[in-house]
Amino acid sequence: MYEGQLLCVLTGVLLIICTFSIQYLQISYHSIIPPAAKTAMISFIQSYNMRIIFKQPPWAKCHLRSSMSSLAAVLQPELESIKSAGTWKSERVITSPQSMKIRVGNGKEVLNFCANNYLGLSNNEEVVAAAKLALDKYGAGLSSVRFICGTQEIHKELEDKLSAFHKRQDTILYASCFDANAGIFETLLTADDAVISDELNHASIIDGIRLCKATRYRYKHRDMADLEEKLKQSASSRLKLIATDGIFSMDGTVAPLPKITELAKKYNALTFVDDCHATGFFGKTGRGTEEYFDLLPSIDIINSTLGKALGGAAGGYTTGPKELVDLLRQRSRPYLFSNSLPPPVVATGIKVLDLISDSTKFLERVSSNTEHFRSAMTSAGFTLSGDGHPICPVMLGDAKLASAFAERMLNKGIYVIGFSYPVVPKGKARIRVQISAAHTTEDIERAVDAFIQIGKELKVIS
Ligand code: PLP
Repeated sequence: MYEGQLLCVLTGVLLIICTFSIQYLQISYHSIIPPAAKTAMISFIQSYNMRIIFKQPPWAKCHLRSSMSSLAAVLQPELESIKSAGTWKSERVITSPQSMKIRVGNGKEVLNFCANNYLGLSNNEEVVAAAKLALDKYGAGLSSVRFICGTQEIHKELEDKLSAFHKRQDTILYASCFDANAGIFETLLTADDAVISDELNHASIIDGIRLCKATRYRYKHRDMADLEEKLKQSASSRLKLIATDGIFSMDGTVAPLPKITELAKKYNALTFVDDCHATGFFGKTGRGTEEYFDLLPSIDIINSTLGKALGGAAGGYTTGPKELVDLLRQRSRPYLFSNSLPPPVVATGIKVLDLISDSTKFLERVSSNTEHFRSAMTSAGFTLSGDGHPICPVMLGDAKLASAFAERMLNKGIYVIGFSYPVVPKGKARIRVQISAAHTTEDIERAVDAFIQIGKELKVIS
């Protein structure tokens, strides 16, 4: 047995050395490699940015009687490698509605500082009542896509309200903003066109762009000299589309739209902004990043979500020129081949738009809460990233420190999440705090007090 294990370790080491320069390392006979050696090999291989594939030995195949067991054999090593890389994401179960005070699995009530519930309307009484009314009046769902028999009057009403809110010609609803981003680039752009995208754009923009045939350019994050360079390189394309997040959600930073729109004009390019982390609460009246810069309405295409500030249920949309929305209704695959938004979800969107059009009290509250948190934390000696946005990343640097800090915060009844590599760059681990209009002054102070106490315990501040 001992000899067998030694042989395996030696073989493993030999294989690693032999395949040092290849991207994928395939190892047979993995079932006889001891687990500890396997884990060590995985971390060694990953430190060289390679992928390791443990293959079943030929004789093991006869034990795999069904396709399900061979599926498990293929997936198990992948799952193991996620765990050993420390990037496994666990889901904490909440047993109450989404709110500022939530109950987690063990029945404990905690203060929530990690939802995208910026306006605090996810469980607002009027919003919930509107959803219930729509459930009674229009039913649970449409069992249809929009163009067959899935369009109710409330779908049109919500699209019109969103167009009016953004001061655009027309709007098209999707099941999510992920879908809106999946549908826009492929529909709009051909092989004669170019798309120029910020390197840190959201995954759904990256995936959407992958689906289109346009030539792709990536400019360095918020680097306007690099964007200009890429615009020059794409000069001969039929259409040029600059694509950016309005707000970058890991940092709470804002895309430099004044310079982007100036360059777009200079090089005759179109602009696309994903404003998921701005719509409803950012800018003077909550119209988003372009309003924050006093540029309303200068962006050509805006995609956004109903799943964050605008009620938090689900749904996304594209708002912009009528011709574009007309074309999306004809050609956009996530729209054409996916079910209509359920009526109660549509009704929550309508109700939230009414609430925030009638009053700015929600966005004033999220803005003053944000200022309160940011200034108290900065005075206490913490470093916060971001441009005055309710996403307030508390920068800690070390990944283990960030997760230990978040764990201690939870023990004190404050629910925050630590983010580390690969979600954020190595050495830039942080706790991302998200502020809501529904937090009370006492909530904010409790969170700051907990940060200060734990910060001192862990020697982050003195
Ligand atoms: N775009 C950005 C910037 C996001 O943060 C998200 C959600 O996390 C999405 C798109 C996807 O939105 P939805 O949840 O509506 O699919």
